[in-house]
Amino acid sequence: MKERSEVLEQDSWDLTPLYVSPERWEEEYQTCVGESNPFKKLLSYKNRLKEGPGICLECLELTMNIDRKLSKLHTYAHLKSDEDAAHPEHKTREGRAKMLYFEFQHAAAWIEPELLQLSDKAIETLLKDQKVAPYRFYLEKIFRLKAHTLSIEQEELLALSSKALQAPREIFSAYNNADISFDPIADGEGTEHPLSHGRYLLYMQSKDRVLRKNAFEGIHKQYQNFENTIAEALQGQVQTHLFRAKARRYPTCLEAALFPHRIDTKVYFSLLETVKEHIDVMHRYISFRKEYFKLDAVHGYDMHVSCAPEVELKFDFETAIDLVIDAVGVLGKEYQEILKQGLKEQRWVDRYENARKRTGAYSSGCYDSYPYILMNYQGTLSDVLTLAHEAGHSMHSFLSNRHQPYHYAQYTIFVAEVASTFNEELVFRALLKQLKSPQEKVFLINKKLDAIRATLFRQTLFAEFELKIHTLAEEGVPLTPSLFKTLYKELNALYYGPDFCHDDAIQYECFRIPHFYTNFYVYQYATGISAAQALVNKVLQDKNPAPYLKFLSSGSSHYSIDLLQQAGVDMLTKKPVALLIDEFKRLFQELQGYMQR
Ligand SMILES: [Zn+2]
Repeated sequence: MKERSEVLEQDSWDLTPLYVSPERWEEEYQTCVGESNPFKKLLSYKNRLKEGPGICLECLELTMNIDRKLSKLHTYAHLKSDEDAAHPEHKTREGRAKMLYFEFQHAAAWIEPELLQLSDKAIETLLKDQKVAPYRFYLEKIFRLKAHTLSIEQEELLALSSKALQAPREIFSAYNNADISFDPIADGEGTEHPLSHGRYLLYMQSKDRVLRKNAFEGIHKQYQNFENTIAEALQGQVQTHLFRAKARRYPTCLEAALFPHRIDTKVYFSLLETVKEHIDVMHRYISFRKEYFKLDAVHGYDMHVSCAPEVELKFDFETAIDLVIDAVGVLGKEYQEILKQGLKEQRWVDRYENARKRTGAYSSGCYDSYPYILMNYQGTLSDVLTLAHEAGHSMHSFLSNRHQPYHYAQYTIFVAEVASTFNEELVFRALLKQLKSPQEKVFLINKKLDAIRATLFRQTLFAEFELKIHTLAEEGVPLTPSLFKTLYKELNALYYGPDFCHDDAIQYECFRIPHFYTNFYVYQYATGISAAQALVNKVLQDKNPAPYLKFLSSGSSHYSIDLLQQAGVDMLTKKPVALLIDEFKRLFQELQGYMQR
């Protein structure tokens, strides 16, 4: 593998618009520490917000300016460090940037609680003040939490508890990332292979069923071995959610998680209901795979294998760029041109693997940088779709940064996966037109069906599990290992139907999912892909990308649900999810059509 120093300039991202050199970074860093430390000035506003809108405005603007400067410092530092994890200078720089951010968060931690202590009269005056108008929605979001905010002493106590309350997640993470180890596994010919989290998904796609089975069982064995410990961590995590919900006077854990972003719990419930109303299509899909692969039953390790495993599509990077740019043509010339420049001349992308480079892919940047993309491009179909995906994120960031002030530029998690999935869908459609052989079409459609299964159906299963365990905890039912396992097994039977094998290994999967330690998070994958699909349909049908482009330019200037509604998708109804399921049905039929030929 290439060393970082051997990577060609045209294959690497151009970080010079951020800082021309590490020395320039250092100069800017020095303006934030020591005598010139801007945090000191920020602290001078403490206990003064009640003096009126003028002071509040000064304080907010100073906070945003510092935040903006630090996020620029941090962006450069983390991008550099991701180029080569073992580079000592990069590592130190990233550590310093992180530390600075941490100090800032600490120095600014009093602002929201102090705003929330203002009297109703003072809040009203503040929100009506013209000078403060650019921050009105920002402030409204904070004040919305007033009913769930405690007295200063109680808030301090809560803040004091937060480190201790992280223990369940830290325990799971320590086990899952550090202590866990897997025995090597044998393939169909008896050759041994190392097993790890990273290799697991690769093995799941292998044509060798023995290898898949051994990988599946090998992974889950290590969760079974520690099931009491992990179940304790998971139930502890649920208890921390319950504690916070009760302390802040929310009726349920779900309500506590969704309220701050003004997401109606109806969004959550309607996702679960809609998927289950149509769950027979997933059962039929599983039955179809059982028949096609001539299996006794479809096991957990039979889900990721392609129905056209002999197809190998390869795309060089330039071809992938052209494919993505062509596919997003429906979004107009300007969108296309910005993306083209970004992917080509401006070099947003760090293209290929090199020694000790961060694995996977992401889009990352800040208000004052390009929206950079890290890839480990190998030329597979998945890589092309990943490029489309990250380019979607990057364009969302680019447009929101261009059109919004700093404090509204960053979009929320709830809408984060919309723009990325939107572009993936466009590239999928373009490829489906372009590829001619039935085998290639089968390969592509299979890929899409699997993506919908994994993102809509599976994440909804997770969401339902999460809701169930929280509801039981609210009712005072002790969450034991056997309760977790039984619930998880039942849900798998419900979602995957009679031809899915409900053997013992599958029930330990609930002890393997790190997202269960992030409060009511996974449902957003399912709602995100549904919203994206609905928006693609709408843009193509109306032949008008304007409302969608406006959404991409809106950052977090309104609540996510409202932004989507303005773009034409109502997540409070069942329609977007039902639409995606219809698409799944249609593609499933098309797949069967090609295979019967
Ligand atoms: Zn993404």
